[in-house]
Amino acid sequence: MQRPDLLQLTQTRWDLIVIGGGITGAGILLEAARRGKKVLLLERADYASGASSRSSKMVHGGLRYIAQGDVSLTRQSLRERERLLQELPHMVVRLPYLFPIRRGRFPGRLPMQALLFVYDFLAGRRTHRWLPRHQVLQDYPSLMPHGLRGALRYDDALTDDARLVQRVLHEARLEGGVAGNYMIVHQIEPGSEGFSVTVSDAVLDTRANLLAGQVVNATGAWADRLSGGSAKVRAQRGSHLFIAADKIALHDCLTFMHQVDGRPVFAFPWKGAVCIGTTDLDHGELNEQEPRCSAAEVDYLLTAVRQQWPDLVLSADDLLSSMAGVRPIIASGKGRTPSQERRDHAIWRTANGVVSVAGGKLTTFRLIALDVLRTLGFIHARDHAAAVQQRRQRCFRHEVTDPHRLSHPLAAPADGAELREQIRWILRHEQVVHLDDLMLRRLRAGHVMARGGEDLLADIGDLCRDQLGWNETRWRQEADRYRAIIADSYSIALPNTRTQVGI
Ligand SMILES: Cc1cc2nc3c(=O)[nH]c(=O)nc-3n(C[C@H](O)[C@H](O)[C@H](O)COP(=O)(O)OP(=O)(O)OC[C@H]3O[C@@H](n4cnc5c(N)ncnc54)[C@H](O)[C@@H]3O)c2cc1C
Repeated sequence: MQRPDLLQLTQTRWDLIVIGGGITGAGILLEAARRGKKVLLLERADYASGASSRSSKMVHGGLRYIAQGDVSLTRQSLRERERLLQELPHMVVRLPYLFPIRRGRFPGRLPMQALLFVYDFLAGRRTHRWLPRHQVLQDYPSLMPHGLRGALRYDDALTDDARLVQRVLHEARLEGGVAGNYMIVHQIEPGSEGFSVTVSDAVLDTRANLLAGQVVNATGAWADRLSGGSAKVRAQRGSHLFIAADKIALHDCLTFMHQVDGRPVFAFPWKGAVCIGTTDLDHGELNEQEPRCSAAEVDYLLTAVRQQWPDLVLSADDLLSSMAGVRPIIASGKGRTPSQERRDHAIWRTANGVVSVAGGKLTTFRLIALDVLRTLGFIHARDHAAAVQQRRQRCFRHEVTDPHRLSHPLAAPADGAELREQIRWILRHEQVVHLDDLMLRRLRAGHVMARGGEDLLADIGDLCRDQLGWNETRWRQEADRYRAIIADSYSIALPNTRTQVGI
């Protein structure tokens, strides 16, 4: 699966060009290709380099949407969760979630139980049960005992978000879709017979105009730049920390309310580390730089850790990395705080004819794609309804031979022969252009290993030279670029203030 040649792409008149290689764009590519459309996806950097590799990795219905009265979003998300659990068992796994109930703290046992009753009912399987205090402390002896009455346990699911995007892209290519990363869309010009899309290839430094009958702008937080209409997206940052697993032995996802602002916080095992998140605040102006987790956000998340594990002592070495993502939230314009904004998606067509889509969830990518196809006129309302319900037909119909543990959300990064096998497969099949594509979004080692997985680089260098033909100079440039990205955007800025954020 090589990157396509931009000049060759000009030879086709595309039915559809999708801009943006996150989960939304990938889902649209798949559903359009499956319906026989000539469809091309263009991603300006690496696939999933936006929000789609920086999420909380939950494939879920979203308990809070029920609390906000959005039962239909929860029902649909839960249906998609069950579908993904069934179809991608090595990539989307069920995980017990534990919600400790403490005396005098919101929410109490009964309201939480009522919420979980509805949640399980919508999912069509009863999973929640009460764990008494002694059992919770037996499983988690270092959890703060003060005021603990017990915990509600229920099931939800976890994934590897960037690998899920790759899986959708593999499926789309097997259905005839074409995708290229490091292809920047600069301009979309409507004409009498469709659109002319100006694209540059950031690797080869070439530029061309491509022709398409329809264009979908699925650029997430950047959607306002290409939509051709008024601004709709509120860019909201959410950050996570990765902590060494031997410090907090977690086998469930612990979820609790932050004592500062009452927002839900999750601590869960992921790829051999513990992930804690998230914050939710206005990101401000979007620029070309990767977002980073501020010192105040680190403080907010470490406060949450101290709240649950008061005796835990963490050294700088235990804090492996941070990860900041920008949520493409559709702004209500009602002066709501970031956390109060709704999470569902919106699709809009502007006067120039471009269809834009933003918002929504990783979990609901298939439904978002179907809504987009309906807006484009590629499927009719009746077919849309049938496809949404679609129970017999699978979303993932092709076999992809990716190494088994590569995408498992609970499998720690491999080493030795297994790592080499994974890397060889990735380099052959997944359009790796830079070392950071490999370390952060294919292997995920950059997040969960100390110093961005520096210890793996010697072995990886040999494989890149061998498989990608990189010479010594190229390898040194890539290693320098990677170290700079880790230092600038994924290292942990230790707080020197006690400022609390995320309110
Ligand atoms: C902190 C956080 C936690 C979250 N947790 C969850 C969760 O647990 N579960 C869940 O279901 N969802 C979660 N989400 C939501 C989910 O991650 C997002 O809704 C989803 O990833 C958005 O995908 P997208 O493809 O629309 O946007 P993105 O993934 O941001 O993709 C947009 C892409 O467009 C590209 N692009 C921009 N401009 C151009 C251009 N000019 N030319 C070409 N390409 C361009 C960008 O490079 C980018 O890759 C979370 C999000 C965040 C940020």
